[in-house]
Amino acid sequence: MSHFKEPPKKQLGQHFLHDRNVIDKIVLAVNPKPGDQLVEIGPGQGAITFPLLKRHGALTVIEFDRDLITPLSEAAHGLGDLTIVHKDVLKVDFGKLAGEGRLRLVGNLPYNISTPILFHVLEHAESIIDMHFMLQKEVVDRMGAGPGSKTYGRLSVMLQAVCEVQPLFDVPPGAFRPPPKVDSSVVRLVPRDPQSVGIKDPALFERVVRDAFGQRRKTLRNALQAICTSEQIVAAGVRPELRAEQLEVAQFINLSNALGVDAAGTTAVVDI
Ligand code: SAM
Repeated sequence: MSHFKEPPKKQLGQHFLHDRNVIDKIVLAVNPKPGDQLVEIGPGQGAITFPLLKRHGALTVIEFDRDLITPLSEAAHGLGDLTIVHKDVLKVDFGKLAGEGRLRLVGNLPYNISTPILFHVLEHAESIIDMHFMLQKEVVDRMGAGPGSKTYGRLSVMLQAVCEVQPLFDVPPGAFRPPPKVDSSVVRLVPRDPQSVGIKDPALFERVVRDAFGQRRKTLRNALQAICTSEQIVAAGVRPELRAEQLEVAQFINLSNALGVDAAGTTAVVDI
């Protein structure tokens, strides 16, 4: 007899996985090791939760839907130690949850808020070892795209600057109940060491990337005119006649770092 009686809630992005093969592939990709602090975002009716719990013995889950809390805890009985955090994931402090350790995150994410979730968890990148997320395939394609590709954009640069992005496998709509209207993909994200990334001013970096892709057909000279001059772009070693979609992630970092130096007043470009 199933513990779960409520119908799926569309507003919470509830598409429950039922394809055993896909579930096994996710657990295999996560491959939990003894001592890992596993956290699942959005356990739903436990499709990934219970196999992970059986295998690993302990798991923390974050679920917003109050109707799922009791059924989850009842169904987990005897499988291992399940800690349920009944909260909006966007309000969870992952640094605090990690404590002295670092987390491994897993989740078939609610697609309507997947990008805010990604950026929220990345605010605590130093507390995270890796993430295995199911997302819309179109989002995973954008996350992993490189310069010159049509899908290369703000999400690709912002994410690849701080994470290694490894698309793993695609999942068709039929693997879920109810089936979503789009194809899905599982991706592994591994945060980079912030020291090695070397972004000096994250807010400025974000602004440069946003403006550069704001009108992606424009040259950098035009797209960035609210932030800097052509001379400053040249001084950063970047050609101002390029468009954002032609720039490597590292070049965006160099450019924003060079502008940051100007902002601090140690360099001046004068026109007299
Ligand atoms: N993991 C389950 C599976 O694979 O069958 C469910 C995945 S379903 C796509 C997304 C889950 O995230 C649902 O259980 C939903 O209730 C939960 N959810 C939606 N918004 C949330 C939020 N803001 N915080 C935490 N969980 C949320």
